[in-house]
This record gives sequence, structure tokens and C-alpha cells, in this order.
Amino acid sequence: MTTTIIGFPRIGAQRELKFATEKYFKQTLTAEQLLATGKQLRQQQWQLLKKAGIDQIPSNDFSFYDNLLDTAFLFHALPKAIATADLSDLDKYFALARGYQGTAGDFKAWPMKKWFNTNYHYLVPQLSKDTKFRYTGGKIKAEFLEALSLGIKTRPTIIGPFTLLRLAEFNEHTAAKDFTNDLLQAYTDLLQDLCAAGAEWLQIDEPALVYDLTPQEINWFANFYRQLLPQKGTLKILLQTYFGDVRDIYSELIKLDFDGLGLDLIEGKQTASLIQSGFPTDKTLFAGVVNGKNIWRNHYQKTLTLLKQLPVQKLVLSTSCSLLHVPYSVAGEDFPTAVKKHFAFAQEKLLELNQLDQLLQQHHPEWLAVNQQLFAQPRVKEDPVLKEKIAQLTTADFSRQPDFQTRRKIQQTELNLPLLPTTTIGSFPQTKEVKKMRAAWHKHEISAADYESFVKQQIKNWISWQEKAGFDVLVHGEFERNDMVEYFGQHLAGYLFTQNGWVQSYGTRGVKPPIIWGDVVRKKPITVKWSTYAQSLTAKPVKGMLTGPVTILNWSFPREDLSLKEATWQLALAIQAEVLDLESHGIKIIQIDEAALREKLPLRKSDWDSEYLAWAIPAFRLVHSKVKPQTQIHTHMCYSEFGDIIPAIDNLDADVISFEASRSNLEILEQLQTQHFKTLVGPGVYDIHSPRVPTKAEIVTELREILKKVPAKNVWVNPDCGLKTRGVKETKASLLNLTAAAQEVRREL
Ligand code: GLN
Ligand code: ZN
Repeated sequence: MTTTIIGFPRIGAQRELKFATEKYFKQTLTAEQLLATGKQLRQQQWQLLKKAGIDQIPSNDFSFYDNLLDTAFLFHALPKAIATADLSDLDKYFALARGYQGTAGDFKAWPMKKWFNTNYHYLVPQLSKDTKFRYTGGKIKAEFLEALSLGIKTRPTIIGPFTLLRLAEFNEHTAAKDFTNDLLQAYTDLLQDLCAAGAEWLQIDEPALVYDLTPQEINWFANFYRQLLPQKGTLKILLQTYFGDVRDIYSELIKLDFDGLGLDLIEGKQTASLIQSGFPTDKTLFAGVVNGKNIWRNHYQKTLTLLKQLPVQKLVLSTSCSLLHVPYSVAGEDFPTAVKKHFAFAQEKLLELNQLDQLLQQHHPEWLAVNQQLFAQPRVKEDPVLKEKIAQLTTADFSRQPDFQTRRKIQQTELNLPLLPTTTIGSFPQTKEVKKMRAAWHKHEISAADYESFVKQQIKNWISWQEKAGFDVLVHGEFERNDMVEYFGQHLAGYLFTQNGWVQSYGTRGVKPPIIWGDVVRKKPITVKWSTYAQSLTAKPVKGMLTGPVTILNWSFPREDLSLKEATWQLALAIQAEVLDLESHGIKIIQIDEAALREKLPLRKSDWDSEYLAWAIPAFRLVHSKVKPQTQIHTHMCYSEFGDIIPAIDNLDADVISFEASRSNLEILEQLQTQHFKTLVGPGVYDIHSPRVPTKAEIVTELREILKKVPAKNVWVNPDCGLKTRGVKETKASLLNLTAAAQEVRREL
């Protein structure tokens, strides 16, 4: 038996790569120094894995930005303008990752998208007529040789052609078939080069196989590999999948000449039964049994039982996906031992693989005993009141009364807003000063009272600014919060926070997801103080501003001893209490953000409803079902790709929804009309992701376009997301143009 992993976090234990790369961007570090940091981190990683007893160590899982970008770069799939620019390879690479403006030209970055059902973002390769895949890059081989010189023979990893094409964007009317032959040659050259360099195994990642596959896709895949695999020589090929099972193509996969199949036994619900239906004796199963996405200890007994049921002769123990999606190590966290022993971050998962391996060989039964102890009793005390409350929920708890149209009229009378009401999405710039004051308060350099009066002063300034700027519905500005999930977690019982639990989100950016440890209950009011203070300053309505239960769940590490549905409903009840509190304190409009609702939509369409929407949508409804008809409920989403779940979004039964639209050609609005979307809409009229100030004329044009598609009485006017990352000056200029534009267009109605 042997052990392996699919990949490891590459940012470094103390985020060394992030800091070095950012310094390089600011030109305070040379290219040589950055490359040296990369080299050092790789070496540390290989040594760490070796010391942890991992038998097959991957390489090329390292990246300066993103693995899909690396793959495109390796195969020379870069736009001609960048390929021929007077830049070093490293700078061409970063030009694709984050754009470039300088003496060598002006290049836009490739777009970014979420990697399957994770919060990691990859760069979307842009293919066009002049894309010609060729194996010209040296990274994968160089890293293999680098490890070899340290006495470690790694298994290089690469993203496979099927996944590459599935995730790429085809421009200029190109299609997969235009690239197939070149790709076949490029991968053939790669295989042969690695074989000649002395590699024994190559891992080809094809996670896109866990999607719903069409017969054409299955054909393409089988044809491609039927031609590629005879070229492998003595190199062994591991076909690696993750994030689900490969039910649509399993019967084909086992017929192809792969030497190993990497299958996910955590998220892949049908993986075990597929293997039980037959697994070829000449292939090795790389069994993904240690969860690569969550931070809890593995349940050894369950894993061992599962493994023993698999009719497999050659077995390697592995993780369910790359460990990229969990923090580096739990070692530096200062949780009490009783808490800490339940966690396994990336480094601790290595030990688990090792122990499982030994246990399968009947060694060290005491390890099993220790592990069983962890699960012998419930880890946390259940909150009986909360449990009962959830058990008692009836359909009435999920449906707001009266119906949408009736309360719409009531709200019109109550709020008396003009046509095309103007508002913003919630946050105003988190300036250096705001961050500094929060840090000072955390470090006890200023008192809680000082911090509070500082936040209140910010609120006051911005309330009066919004009034002068002519906004109809104001916001308090979210100055009290660092983050839309962590802030709520901090006010809820049941949450834990790490100090250094960073997970790469994209490039040099990381997130630090909080951990749901136990039953979640609202301990005390969360935002009431700020919202009521803001409302006390103005006669205009101030929107209460909350994060919704699905988003809080999706951006936390969830429990494994409680269903996602139940965990979300606990959160929903906590936020419900806050909603009702805001309402009873005179807040008339409450926005409940669900920025991450779409993110965890299952990868297979057939699972959308049963596995997710069936409890996620009710969770939101539960949050607001008890408010008075006069209270207007808003929601916000940071994207507009909800074409395929329009009915589900409408079914949230919010009164108003704002969303990103300024970059999507407004196509979505037509879809909303044809599907009789009832919720009032605030399609973002300008893109807040850029520092650029939109002119009044631009916003007027945008609004006129919107009004061609949606009746004016259903339209709100707002930017497309919160403004916390923007500067004050550009924000004020943009917002003044927004209200001026709304006024002008109102006069045309
Ligand atoms: N209310 C939040 C803000 O304005 C929404 C952020 C988001 O959608 N990501 O910052
Ligand atoms: Zn947003």
C-alpha cells in the first residue's frame, strides 16, 4: 500500500508566496528573488511530504498564480500580442493573470471564474484563431528535475485536455475540434519528455469528468485518450478526478489504458458503487478518502470499512481533491486541545493518510482506538431548544404573508418612493483610517467606546452625504465590519475563528473561512445598534444590512456531524431574529445579501434541486417570513448568471433584488421578463470593480437600455456591488453621476 496527495497549498505556511509576489508586483523584489522564494517553498513542501511518509509526492502543483494558467502557458496558448511582447516569460505570465500596462504594451487580464464548487478562482484561457497549442514550456519538467536533484522522484501533475477545453472560452467562432490535433501532439510531446527525464508516473487532472457529460463529450474524451495513451512508453498515467463521481463515463474510463484512476470517495456519492460494479485488476485505484475540502479529522473506522468493501487489488490512499482548499496547518492555532484534536488541516491530513495506511495493514491498532475516541461521543452539546424549534417549523414559517403583489401596494404607500428609487449595495470605502481604527481597537490601543464613536462619526458623515447626493434609500456603510461573513460569525454562538487559516482564493488573495463548531444561535443583536443610529439621523429610510444564511454557510467550514440543511436553517433562525429586531426598532427596509448562493450549486444539474435548492431557498424564506407587510425585503447577488435558476431566485420571495448587470449586456433582463420574474430589480448600472468613474451620460444610456426591457415601476437604480474596496473620491463622483442620471431619466417617464 502507498499514500499520496493530489496537491498541496502552495502559498506557504506564513503566506510567503503571497508576500513575495506582491513585492515583486510593487517592484521591491527582483524576479530572481521571487523565483528563489518559489524554489524554496517547493523544496520545503517536498521535504515535508517526505518526512510525513507520503510515498508518491506530486510536483507542478506549485504555481505562481494558477494551475490552469500554468497549463495554458506550458502549451503556449497565449495571445499573440503577449507572446511577442518585449517581456520576460514571468511577466508575460503575470500579464495574463492580472493585466499589464507599461512600455511593452497594454494587455487585459484573462477573466477569472470559480473553480468548480470551490471558492478558488482560475483564469479562463481565451482561445482564438491564432491559438496553437505546442509543448514549449519548461515548468513541469524543471520542477520534476528540481525535486529529483533533492533525491525525490515526484509524480508531475498537469490539467488534462478535456478539462482545459471545458473551462476555456472559445472566441472568433472556434470550437474544441479546432484544437484537438494540436493538443494531442502537445500532450504527446509532454509525455515523452517526462518519460525521457525519468518520470515514472504522470497525474493528469480531469475534474470536468464529474459534470453531466453529453455522449459527444464522452466520445471526445475516449477518442483523445485512445490516441494519446499508446504514446506513453514506460510512463504510467494516473487519471485524476475530484469534486464528485464520474458516473457518466466510468464504464469508458476503465476500458482505457490508464495505469491508475483517482476517484473521489468523499464528494462522489456514487464512487463506491461504481467501483463495486467492477474495477480492472491491472489498474491502481487512487482512493480519495481524506477530505481535501474540510478541516475535520477523518473517521478512521468508516474509512477502513469503506476501503475494505472495494474490490481492488492495487490501492493507493489519497485525498478527495487537492489540499489547496484547506489551510496549511493547525499547529500554530491556539485552540484548546479538546478543540484542536478535532481538526486536520493540510499538514495534519498527511498524518491521517499515513495512519490509515498502517491501519489497513493491521499495524498500530492503538491509532484506531484514539481516533474512535474522537467520535465516541457527540463532539458538541446540542442546543435542545434550537433543535425543537427546527423540528416544529411548518410551511407557514417559510411563507411570507400576504403575497408579493398585496404587500407591494402596502409598501408603496408606506415608503412613498419615487419611480426609479436610488440606493447603494451597503458598504462604503473601507479607508486606511477605518482599518487602522479597527486594528487599534483589537490591539486595545483605543477603547471600545472610542471605536464606537469613530464608527458612528463615519456613519454620520455618510448619511449626510447620501442625503445631499439625493439618494432615496440610504445605507449606514458597514464600517463596523471587516468581512460580511466573519462579522456575523463573531456575533453567533457556535463559531470558531483561526488566526492563520488562510486558503487561497485567487492569485495572491486568500480568505480565512470561519469554522462552524456547534449549534448556531444569535447571542445578541448584531447590527441593530448601527442601523438604528443611522436611521436616527435622517427622515429617509435606511436599509438594514445583513448577510443571508446560505452565504454565511458557504463561506464557512461546515460541520460534518450535521446536515448542511440543518446548519443553514440554524443560521436562518439566527438571522431571522436580527431581522425582527431591526424591524421592531423602526427599520423599514432590510437587505439580506446572498452573494454566494449560486456558488455551491451542485455540479450536476440533476442534483440542483434535491441536494441544494430544496433547502437553500427555504432557508432564505425562513429569514424573512415573519416580517410585517410594510417591511420591504431586499436581497443582493454579485453576479447575474442566474439564467438557469431564475424561478428559484424569484422564489426567495424578496421584494427587491439588486445584482451585477453592467458587464453582461443586460441579456439577463430579457430572460427575467420572459420568465415573468416578479421581484423588483436593481440591475447594477455601473461596474464597481474598476476605479473608473462612469459619466452621467453613460448611466443615463444604461438606464434607458434597462427601461426598454423592464417597466419603470419595477426598476431600482444602484451600483452593481458594495463599495468597500473603492476610494472615497471615485465613489462620491460615481454616485453623484448615478443620482443625477436617475433624476434625468425620471423626467423622461
Ligand atoms: N452588502 C455588502 C457590501 O456592500 C455586499 C457585498 C457582496 O455582495 N459581496 O459590501
Ligand atoms: Zn455583490
